[in-house]
Amino acid sequence: MTNVPEIFGTMVFNEQIMKARLPKETYKAMKKTIEEGLPLNIEIANVVANAMKDWAVEKGATHFTHWFQPLTGITAEKHDSFICPTKEGSVIMEFSGKELVQGEPDASSFPSGGLRATFEARGYTAWDPTSFAFIKDNTLCIPTAFCSYSGEALDKKTPLLRSMEVISKQAVRILRLFGNEDPHLTVKTTVGPEQEYFLIPVELYNKRKDLIYTGRTLFGAKPPKGQELEDHYFGAIKPRVSAYMKDLDEELWKLGVLAKTKHNEVAPAQHELAPIFTTTNIATDHNQLMMEIMQKVAKKHGLVCLLHEKPFAGVNGSGKHNNWSISTSTGVNLLEPGDTPSENAQFLLFLAAVIRAVDVHQDLLRISVATAGNDHRLGANEAPPAVVSMFLGDELNEIIESIVSGKSVHKKSKVQMEIGVDVLPKFPKDSTDRNRTSPFAFTGNKFEFRMLGSANSIACANIMLNTAVADSLCEFADKLEKVKKKDFQTALAKLIKETITAHKRIIFNGNGYDEHWIKEAVDDRGLLNLRSTPEAMDRFLDQKNKDVFLKFGVFSLAEMQSRHDILLENYSKTINIEALTMIDMARKDILPAITSYIKELSDTAVSVSNAAGVDAVFEKNLITKLVKIQASISDKINILENAVVSVHEISDISKQSYAYRDSVFVAMQDLRASVDKAESLCAAKYWPFPSYGELLFGVR
Ligand code: ADP
Ligand code: MG
Repeated sequence: MTNVPEIFGTMVFNEQIMKARLPKETYKAMKKTIEEGLPLNIEIANVVANAMKDWAVEKGATHFTHWFQPLTGITAEKHDSFICPTKEGSVIMEFSGKELVQGEPDASSFPSGGLRATFEARGYTAWDPTSFAFIKDNTLCIPTAFCSYSGEALDKKTPLLRSMEVISKQAVRILRLFGNEDPHLTVKTTVGPEQEYFLIPVELYNKRKDLIYTGRTLFGAKPPKGQELEDHYFGAIKPRVSAYMKDLDEELWKLGVLAKTKHNEVAPAQHELAPIFTTTNIATDHNQLMMEIMQKVAKKHGLVCLLHEKPFAGVNGSGKHNNWSISTSTGVNLLEPGDTPSENAQFLLFLAAVIRAVDVHQDLLRISVATAGNDHRLGANEAPPAVVSMFLGDELNEIIESIVSGKSVHKKSKVQMEIGVDVLPKFPKDSTDRNRTSPFAFTGNKFEFRMLGSANSIACANIMLNTAVADSLCEFADKLEKVKKKDFQTALAKLIKETITAHKRIIFNGNGYDEHWIKEAVDDRGLLNLRSTPEAMDRFLDQKNKDVFLKFGVFSLAEMQSRHDILLENYSKTINIEALTMIDMARKDILPAITSYIKELSDTAVSVSNAAGVDAVFEKNLITKLVKIQASISDKINILENAVVSVHEISDISKQSYAYRDSVFVAMQDLRASVDKAESLCAAKYWPFPSYGELLFGVR
């Protein structure tokens, strides 16, 4: 048995290690830096770096790296060794404060969307001391932000940290109005992301070019059994999966990730891992780390971990639930209905802030999860729809209704809710958690944003959430700060009522998968239905969005433009690679396979007729069908190829992304339909790739 407390965080240079290894004064200065986000001076950095190096070397580390999150969505690192030559021709291990605090990765190959002109190809990385350094693969990893020399963010962490500061500042203004005078008061957002993934045997993975190149199957006829029984069949890989999960938990614990793996998701071969929540930037780092370790540990167990949002057509895809809340530096969760009338009034104000934020910035929330992979889920009758709405649960909804209408709406609730006077009931999780179809659900003391794709970095979603809610809080504080103390209660009640009334259209407690809802949302409520990435990204540079990001300094205009371009390019590139992979597979493997099978059928038909003088009816019919379908596959390959060629001629990236969606992607679907039909007609031994049955159930 593993002793969990003993291994937990052993690979992390955490507070406990700092306390034990740093001189008292240095430790105090470090702690202040971490808690109050103060800059670190170089003397202190030198001492910390040296202690960190000694600790890392003892643990077998030979290299260090600045670990960062470029706009590609994965993490990047550039390893340097600690060695430093001495005059005597030997080496010593060294690591300076300067090397700890700032790095210069050769970053010209990372996308910058035009932010880094070629004459200034270098960016620099800067340590985020609020996220602990850790050891991975004998390398000391230092979590960093990545910027250009002119100060523009080239990564996802920088704007995330900015958004956390912004929401803290605005929330503190509100808390002051409620009488909180703590001079050190700050507010942080907390996140617990639930991560879904698929596991498949590596020997099958290696036989599929589509999985290798694109992370998803581009072809594959439906198996006789899908997920309709929802009984999750592990098949032959079950023991491997259990061993994997045990190992994964341990590896993550060593890195200080509070992982709790869970078995069975809805789809066959699908699983979930949820860590215990923590501060948003650390949760983001940990989620990136988790995705990396999940893939690495899988290899050790002869498995491949698929993080793609839709690896298999006709089977539920994978998402990520971003559980989000706001709490004070003293640990008070601001989305927890309190025990006193005043706490409750404060809760209702924060709730109103979130309702307004989700309504006003529904486009930003949708944009934050827009990728080619996630487009397969959103709006595709699984996961949440592409329309953003909010679920509050019956109890809370009743209270909201009563605030808006000014009267008790339900016989059960005795009196109308009077803000700042009444105490709210507790909202147990099970009463708020029934609706699994809502994109944004209140679950007792936090919100669960469920639109994220499994491969998404959670940074974007939280940048948008933090900024959107900060925007509401700022508007509220601007109003309430002007009010005289004696009128505060009345002004507060009025503000909550007005806000909820104005933004109530975003609240929907029904079934999010229902077609009627989409119609109602769009036609009656005027909500956005941004079904694909090109449509969503079209909204990003709207004046409203420029205004909010510039006002709070979360993104500069140049940063917004670059993100817009990179995301769209990424979308187009993804579909381009998929299209080329399909053409390759269809031409080089699928058509020849069908030919071979036709040949066998023809030989058999001739032999049968020679031997017995009878017509081989089955063979002949099948040959006719296969020849026909083979011709159509061949035609469709050409159509797809031409579509790819013409899309390349479009220079405007937004227009090009629409063309990928409307011509290339459509041609891909069309080709797939014919190939899948052929697969269902071909003898198994002729089909060049493992079938869905093999991949998901371990049967041919
Ligand atoms: P589900 O019922 O959706 O499967 P889980 O219990 O698996 O929910 O996961 C809930 C997630 O929410 C966990 O990661 C948990 O740590 C996180 N969580 C709980 N409280 C908070 C909070 N205050 N802020 C952010 N996340 C939270
Ligand atoms: Mg969940």
